[in-house]
Amino acid sequence: MDNLFTKNDDEKFTLFKNLILKNNLSNQLLISCNNKVKLATFATEIIKFLLCSEKKGQDCQCDICQRVNNQTYYDLKIKGDFETTIKKESIQEIIQTFNYSALEETGIKVYVIKGVDLLTLEAANSLLKFLEEPSQNTYAFLLTTNKTKVIETIKSRCLNIILENSSNSEEVDDFKNNFIQTFFKNFENNAANNFIHLRQLNSYDNTECREYFLAIANVLKKKEWNKYQITDQTLIEKLNRKNSKLIEICYATANLLLENLNKELILEKGLIDWYNEV
Ligand SMILES: [Zn+2]
Repeated sequence: MDNLFTKNDDEKFTLFKNLILKNNLSNQLLISCNNKVKLATFATEIIKFLLCSEKKGQDCQCDICQRVNNQTYYDLKIKGDFETTIKKESIQEIIQTFNYSALEETGIKVYVIKGVDLLTLEAANSLLKFLEEPSQNTYAFLLTTNKTKVIETIKSRCLNIILENSSNSEEVDDFKNNFIQTFFKNFENNAANNFIHLRQLNSYDNTECREYFLAIANVLKKKEWNKYQITDQTLIEKLNRKNSKLIEICYATANLLLENLNKELILEKGLIDWYNEV
């Protein structure tokens, strides 16, 4: 899709389309990226796929897809512009409208908040209450260019999706670096802690989890022990000795994450395989 989206983003499109086809899309999505256009376009494409009966994808010219494009689909509410503060009234307007039954035939109601990091405290509390009582036919697309400023309670109620940042990717890299570092640290100290650690990934989508296993494979491949502060000589020795086997496990896990949507099970299996080797 143009130059806006990278290969990783395209994989996310595929994943979400599959989730929609399997009727398995989470109702509450928090999507982050530093590029507003990318965020808005990604959300629009997913919403079209969700509502469209033809499921043809981005070029679909059906009535529903066109009305989503023009923002004239009745049961789609969009608030915010990534710039200005979003007040409680805006959130309440969504809640009130969605208290009535859907106007469109699909019965699906969707709201988009552009800049969920810009909610006032009152607005955030209203939204939180709404998120706590999810309805099956209502979908929230919460978009942010500044995920660190989104309140924790909102983050934890959503499936977190990270699109590739356009120029700098500090925020994502920080999390990724810390994640990798902790992963190996746990093998130095108490490997069982990784069962808790990997659970952090449960709030991220499959393609994101896959990224982490590919990143770990990369560390092994390049033997970047220093970069990730892996200092335990016994561990390094094992990592060297079992290098190709461990990389293989990472790849197998990464592939399974694409094919199978049961993230929790795959992550656990990947970790157990690691556990048995190291
Ligand atoms: Zn369509």
